[in-house]
Amino acid sequence: MSFFNSIGRSMTRAPRNAKRSPTPTSATFSPVEYNSNSTPPSPVVAAPKPLYLCSPFVEAALVKGNFKTIVMLPKYVDIMEWVAVNIFDFYTNLNEFYGVITECCTQQTCPTMSAGSVLNYTWINQDRKSVHLPAPTYIDYVMTWAQNLLDDESVFPTKSGRDFPQSFPSTVKHVYRQLLRVFAHIYHAHYHQILHLRSEPHFNSLFAHFLAFGREYELLEMKDLKGSSSAPVGVGALWERWRDMGILDG
Ligand SMILES: [Zn+2]
Repeated sequence: MSFFNSIGRSMTRAPRNAKRSPTPTSATFSPVEYNSNSTPPSPVVAAPKPLYLCSPFVEAALVKGNFKTIVMLPKYVDIMEWVAVNIFDFYTNLNEFYGVITECCTQQTCPTMSAGSVLNYTWINQDRKSVHLPAPTYIDYVMTWAQNLLDDESVFPTKSGRDFPQSFPSTVKHVYRQLLRVFAHIYHAHYHQILHLRSEPHFNSLFAHFLAFGREYELLEMKDLKGSSSAPVGVGALWERWRDMGILDG
């Protein structure tokens, strides 16, 4: 079912509980189907292969199998409610991860919001101008903005009887794109710190869940995930790798 086509359906729903997503048991992604010769060459052949694409890190996960099973809309659950609670979870978990590595993400280490060897995101300021910001500033803006939306009853209603606004799908799509950028920066610039904390199974699972959910409910644009051929997003290759391993759908 298309999330975007669901607008106009009955929006009656129960109050949202801050329920966690299903917590999986420890496992690893099954790498058996993956054949490294079957993937097309990356456009960034000159750059060394990032660690997140290397074994055993690329297979490290808390969840075994395809993520589609945990993103499907549960029976009797309103689709708006399902999207809202999952966005809340993705935001909360990502914020916790970033909080742990925040000391390593400074104006000196990350003077731009990088997400690939030649990709730096820009922020649209109040004058509608596109500006480069240090990554910690950019991420602080994103997380504060998202937190304010999540706290806003008129955007993410939690009380019984209040409806989601018509603009809800486009708002969450916007949130998704910005959270993707935070994931992309952490993978690109701070994956070694994730490894140092031995958190790669958890972080990979969170990101794979985020990608699967975004694809299922049309919140994630492939152009945002992959970038352009001249400035690819680093994690675009990770998505391709997980797709080839059977963890994500195409
Ligand atoms: Zn950084």
